[in-house]
Amino acid sequence: MIEETDYENRLVSMDYLPEDDGDNPLRPRTLEEYIGQEKVKENLRVYIEAAKLRHEALDHVLLYGPPGLGKTTLAAIIAHEMGVNIRITSGPALERPGDLAALLTNLDEGDVLFIDEIHRMPRTVEEILYPAMEDFSIDIINGKGQGAMSIHLPLPKFTLIGATTRAGQLSAPLRDRFGVLSRLELYTPEELGQIVRRSAGILGASITEDGSLEVASRSRGTPRIANRLLKRVRDFAMVLSGGVIDEPTARIALARMEIDELGLDLVDRRMLTAMIEHYKGGPVGLETLAAMIGEEAVTIEDVYEPYLMQIGFLSRTPRGRVVLPAAYEHLGIPMEGQQSLF
Ligand code: ADP
Repeated sequence: MIEETDYENRLVSMDYLPEDDGDNPLRPRTLEEYIGQEKVKENLRVYIEAAKLRHEALDHVLLYGPPGLGKTTLAAIIAHEMGVNIRITSGPALERPGDLAALLTNLDEGDVLFIDEIHRMPRTVEEILYPAMEDFSIDIINGKGQGAMSIHLPLPKFTLIGATTRAGQLSAPLRDRFGVLSRLELYTPEELGQIVRRSAGILGASITEDGSLEVASRSRGTPRIANRLLKRVRDFAMVLSGGVIDEPTARIALARMEIDELGLDLVDRRMLTAMIEHYKGGPVGLETLAAMIGEEAVTIEDVYEPYLMQIGFLSRTPRGRVVLPAAYEHLGIPMEGQQSLF
């Protein structure tokens, strides 16, 4: 077991913070303002244009990829570009079929229904979604036992946008009912640099090109983290350097927050170090890893691993997770005596 850490205050946490809620001014409103994800954007532009020309609702869209990459933002942009309303809910919030039926029957023609974490929707709810997506109708059972009656309700033609961090957990019948499947990728430091400069502009903060790249390169490919780091670095800049976020100020601020040059925080470093020290670098089972850092296995898979794998620090093998040589080098731990699996 590694030392206790203040998980609640982790900056790289992918959980929603109050600042992400509501009318977040940093959220891009149009496809034009949405930086990166060029392939996804280009295709969506065509589908939106075509649906508008046909005066039809857009086909159902599934957006998948790690948290904080802009799935919710993109769903709102799609609704905006289509000129329709968006209703937002999430898989776990839809406990009973009636919860979904109430939402569906209140939609207007062409509206977007956004279901976040759609893989966590109960099966009974998922079953009403099939005819809703395919035939734009639902059958509601009214009453119980012998006297129960099935009522057939037509629905307006709507667009379902589902978001998930794990497309693999979606049942095949649900996945097959989406016409558009778009995978969002981690952003490059250059794209994140643009996002940071745009956000700084909106926040009225002054930032140099180098300063923005410094923040961007430590943001784990994730806009939500980039925006969060920017806000904290801005605080340091106001106190330390007259408000200008330049490279030295960003470096000092990020070092104070214990975010290293690659965006790893204390927990990442402790996890990797513990894997090396106690398990010779692995393979370590997912559950063991989860117990080691006091997080749930799914959080490790969705939040920590995508970036550690992308930068070549960790690999998933059938026998468990293995620390790769680049991580030893970064942590300054010699590789002698470690199991050689490479
Ligand atoms: P997800 O739904 O995938 O968890 P969000 O859509 O909530 O992610 O995005 C997190 C934050 O990151 C948003 O508040 C938004 O400000 C910012 N963001 C996401 N994608 C982009 C982008 N492509 N360009 C600019 N900002 C973005």
